[in-house]
Amino acid sequence: MARSRFEQTAEEMTVTLIPQCNSCKFGKGYYGCKVYGEKPLKYRKNKEICPSREERA
Ligand code: SF4
Repeated sequence: MARSRFEQTAEEMTVTLIPQCNSCKFGKGYYGCKVYGEKPLKYRKNKEICPSREERA
């Protein structure tokens, strides 16, 4: 019972940022990108839409 005080359910969580790189086929880990070498911060943080992004199949 006491343990449940420290656990969260999916309903209690709010996703605030999903980087566009997550579902891009050119992404390589957290920082790597097959197009740019390293993901530009503005694309990784969704500040701008990446012109090279392609949805992963
Ligand atoms: S091509 Fe653009 S969207 Fe795809 S991983 Fe690289 S920076 Fe991110």
